[in-house]
Amino acid sequence: MRIPIVAGNWKMNKCTGDGAELAVAIARGLPAGTQGEVVVCPPAPALSAVAAALAGSRVALGAQNMHWEASGAYTGEMSAEMLKDVGCRYVILGHSERRQYFGETDEGVNRKAMAALAAGLVPIVCVGETLEQRESDQTAAVITTQVRGSLAGIAADELRKLVVAYEPVWAIGTGRTASPAQAQEVHALIRGLLAGISDAETAAAVRLQYGGSVKADNAAELFGQPDIDGGLIGGAALTAESFLAIVQAAG
Ligand code: PEP
Repeated sequence: MRIPIVAGNWKMNKCTGDGAELAVAIARGLPAGTQGEVVVCPPAPALSAVAAALAGSRVALGAQNMHWEASGAYTGEMSAEMLKDVGCRYVILGHSERRQYFGETDEGVNRKAMAALAAGLVPIVCVGETLEQRESDQTAAVITTQVRGSLAGIAADELRKLVVAYEPVWAIGTGRTASPAQAQEVHALIRGLLAGISDAETAAAVRLQYGGSVKADNAAELFGQPDIDGGLIGGAALTAESFLAIVQAAG
């Protein structure tokens, strides 16, 4: 009943030319019978070129960050309206690299998620524990704080529109993937938390992605878990071949 969603986070890779080329290759190579949503999230300077490359295809465009304010003196920032203006339908919020290197907090992610929803963008809200936190048995506590903090005050009808990505920090870009059982355990926790802040029906409707070294050869088993509805893909999203194999695994 939940439509799978696979999103490629290109991070700080690809300019307009090679970004558009990759987008075209993904759009053209989409496996026949793909039912799920497919999203690519290029860096901001390539958004317009990728939007043009995707025109008429069923691959959607997303951004990697945005500001919560609509406009004003916020040098270097982009608003939800600006992202919509270049054709974005999705925006990744609170990625662990933004939390780690740019000081993003749950409170800031919460403000961004509300602003994105108000503007009609679908936020992909990222949560995940570090290796140190996992090894000291703090995973559940960290995820609980991040989910409650990042999604505070979002009404049930808005909550069901967004996507939550569980990305254990120790699995991002490391080649080390959470086992399907480890990932499922945290996804089930997140769904329970969503039920606590809204209701069981809403929680059952929210898509939960897994992210962290997803590759063609581990995607199917991860996506086969009952609470995993697709993936947020980093490194393997940078070539059409590997990304499309993951899209295929999601169905
Ligand atoms: C990510 O950064 O969102 C990610 C999941 O990266 P990778 O797939 O490279 O681990």
